[in-house]
Amino acid sequence: MIWLYVFLALGIFVTVYFRLYLFAVPKNRLTILMYHQIEKDGAEELTISPENLEKQFSYLSQNHFNSIFFSEINQTCSKKIILTFDDGYENNAQYLPSLLEKYHLKATIFIPTKFIQQGYKSYKMMTFEDIRNLDRKKIEIALHSHSHDNFKNFSLDFIENDLKEHMNILDEEKIIYSKVLAYPYGGYPKNDPKKSDLFQLLKNLGIEFAVRIGNKINYLPAKEPYELCRIDIKGNESLLKFKLKLIFGRLKIF
Ligand SMILES: [Zn+2]
Repeated sequence: MIWLYVFLALGIFVTVYFRLYLFAVPKNRLTILMYHQIEKDGAEELTISPENLEKQFSYLSQNHFNSIFFSEINQTCSKKIILTFDDGYENNAQYLPSLLEKYHLKATIFIPTKFIQQGYKSYKMMTFEDIRNLDRKKIEIALHSHSHDNFKNFSLDFIENDLKEHMNILDEEKIIYSKVLAYPYGGYPKNDPKKSDLFQLLKNLGIEFAVRIGNKINYLPAKEPYELCRIDIKGNESLLKFKLKLIFGRLKIF
């Protein structure tokens, strides 16, 4: 019997704690989620099923998260969230438009141009035509490098040439994009002077923000616009874990 009381007390404590936390949550939070593929029966960790994604989208919508594009970061609203999808998989174009429409959300897709031109492993990628046909009120296209190499292993010259080629291809293909970069594999040099040289290069190229992984919530105004953090959403996670990640970012205890 005592255990029942302990259990009930614990339940009340956890509920009150979360409610208080959400009540006290600072208004300047910016949560950025990172997804990859959307596929039924996807066996890979980075693949989420349309059903699970819909549950998450529904939760965001019911709980009044403000889904924005990177260009809207400075708007005055609370509970800002940016939904990002990496690599340009064809299944994004298949599932995202209707789900975004249904739950009044927006998404940003980071496209590596080489994957679109030459493919990636055996995955079905979007074509430039598919990308041009996306509803731009719901979906924003942004940068993910041309070659999708890990920037932490390459020279500044290589990175500069890669990003210039990347933006040239998008221009030639008449694809409107935001100057926001997702580092391939989340990698970039972490130490100066290489890190500050890279940030200067991004600035010179007109890039406004860059995202790493990091699994943390951001607070605005961003102290470091080239190190915004994203929260990695795994395909097989429960809705509870998703809710906890929205509050805390990294979950080391799970
Ligand atoms: Zn990628």
